[in-house]
Amino acid sequence: MSHVFEVAPTGRAKCRGCNQALARGELRFGERLANPFAEGEMTLWFHPRCAAFKRPEALLEALPQAPEDLPDRADLEHIAQAGLAHRRLPRIDGAERAPSGQAKCRSCREPIPKGTWRIRLVFYEEGRFSPGGFVHLACRTAYFETGDVWEPLAHFSAGLGEDERKELEREVRADPPA
Ligand SMILES: [Zn+2]
Ligand SMILES: [Zn+2]
Repeated sequence: MSHVFEVAPTGRAKCRGCNQALARGELRFGERLANPFAEGEMTLWFHPRCAAFKRPEALLEALPQAPEDLPDRADLEHIAQAGLAHRRLPRIDGAERAPSGQAKCRSCREPIPKGTWRIRLVFYEEGRFSPGGFVHLACRTAYFETGDVWEPLAHFSAGLGEDERKELEREVRADPPA
């Protein structure tokens, strides 16, 4: 089983990493794995950058076979290496303001107050990503063991408006919590 890079023949498939369409004619990354539910294999399709963030191991395995003209190759490798070095980074699924005060932080176990920033987590298992709860934005360094989370946060927070995005960036780039 080997992972693949290929040009998307249609625009129908969605990226497993960000849930947005994979545009026809653009290079996409396919992670091949044994189908856990049936005979044979299955392929999970990603934007290469989404795979670098969320499936770093698979992407790094495939990079040596990637087409010469793969855009941002060094950047993809750098992102994926960070995900291997800090094993919780690939769980980042973006940031949002808590719509209620019900969720507890997976890092400190305290409630996340309504209206404050929280980081969404997903867990990958057997070809699926499942919602994995939240951490306070302020708990990012404690939980991810690195303060370097802006890139994946920004990448998977496509739903934020321009102003919200700027606010989030300000908070993330402010003095990192210890
Ligand atoms: Zn994507
Ligand atoms: Zn917390």
